Amino acid sequence: MAEFSTLIRHWYRLNGRDLPWRKSKNPYHIWLSEIMLQQTRVDQGLNYYLKFVKAYPTVFDLAAAPDDEVMNLWQGLGYYSRARNLHATAKIIAEDYEGLFPADFNKIIKLKGVGDYTASAIASIAFGLPHAVVDGNVYRVLSRYMADKTPIDSSAGKKLFKTIAQELIDIDHPGDHNQALMEIGALVCSPKKPNCAECPLNNSCLAHHQNEPLAYPVKEKKTKVRDRHLQYLVLTDGENILIKKRDKKDVWQGLYDFPLLEKELKEELPKSHVPQDNVEWIREEGQFKHILSHQHIYARFWLVKCRMLKPDENQLLIPKSGIEEYPLPQLLIRYIESSQFFEAE
Ligand code: SF4
Repeated sequence: MAEFSTLIRHWYRLNGRDLPWRKSKNPYHIWLSEIMLQQTRVDQGLNYYLKFVKAYPTVFDLAAAPDDEVMNLWQGLGYYSRARNLHATAKIIAEDYEGLFPADFNKIIKLKGVGDYTASAIASIAFGLPHAVVDGNVYRVLSRYMADKTPIDSSAGKKLFKTIAQELIDIDHPGDHNQALMEIGALVCSPKKPNCAECPLNNSCLAHHQNEPLAYPVKEKKTKVRDRHLQYLVLTDGENILIKKRDKKDVWQGLYDFPLLEKELKEELPKSHVPQDNVEWIREEGQFKHILSHQHIYARFWLVKCRMLKPDENQLLIPKSGIEEYPLPQLLIRYIESSQFFEAE
């Protein structure tokens, strides 16, 4: 087992990517990077990491930032619950821990948005505690290395691979060990084209010897994807528009969008949904498809020119030129960038 760790750490020293959070043992930096890299490619997360560290050099700065400002900075990174949890945790660290991350796995894992993976990463990298990380990359490498077909999304699989990862860890170098294993998963043992010839584990990897790395890892469930149809009403008097905050538990919670109807796109906009005596004209502005991990969203945008705009208690009346100050879903940004109405500023 010691040999496993020596091999991967040696490889990592020579081949690991030079990333800013890897030069730091500061738990604030490690935590930020780990939250940002969940479900996100490193090249995409890197820019956001740099923006956040610049805007909020310490956890106190992040804790003191307004909600909308944090969401705005997160805009485009997706999985917005991460940003809400990040902000909530920053406040807890600032207020309850005097700005210092607890050096204790059981306390770290209680923080909002921090599960076993993130807690293990912070504990091992920032504090040198021997907790093995298991993310998608680690599942793939270990299931191939052991040629084990236990489904990685079953509770038996989760337990098994966590146990294996924990047995393999070098307790003197847990941070480097964990990062090395994840890096091999990201750079060498990739999902579709594992580069076994360059892999430091190729001597003892069972899937490689059986010549079937692609048979691993095994999953038991397919992700269920739901189709949704959103008809957006961009209500305007020519200069101003109405927007609203998405405060329900749904996609894009905490971001802003336009009033909308959840209706099949093939249905024309029913007249009953726009106040006829107030409407001068309606123009269709285009249709967009937006893919999320669990939802495919089909959206149709209607520009509705009104004689006057009256926001209800959930809406804000803002100048159309001010839309950029609000955190928006990527779908709306794509629409706004394509729209002559918004371009005419
Ligand atoms: S030898 Fe191939 S299959 Fe095995 S861990 Fe390395 S890259 Fe993955």
